[in-house]
Amino acid sequence: MFDKISEIIKKKNLKPTDCEYHTLRTLENGGKLRALVTKAEPNVLHVEYICPKCSHYGYKVMEYKKVSKAAKIRFRVECDKCHFKIKVEKLKAKK
Ligand SMILES: [Zn+2]
Repeated sequence: MFDKISEIIKKKNLKPTDCEYHTLRTLENGGKLRALVTKAEPNVLHVEYICPKCSHYGYKVMEYKKVSKAAKIRFRVECDKCHFKIKVEKLKAKK
């Protein structure tokens, strides 16, 4: 069960160019995180995750704020079950 964001993409027929931000990360212990921000709703962050601590599956909608260029963390998501904070680091641009 990790299809909430796929469903949104399918339903709205989103193309990569319609996305402001989209990431899929693999976390330790089988955890996973997928996040999506659409250009139509640039302040809405859809997050789907499997918690690396307790394996809880969750989906939530949060406010998306742009972070400074120097920031290492793009956003944090708290697991609804164990309250572990999943940090999503910015991917370093390859030179
Ligand atoms: Zn958890």
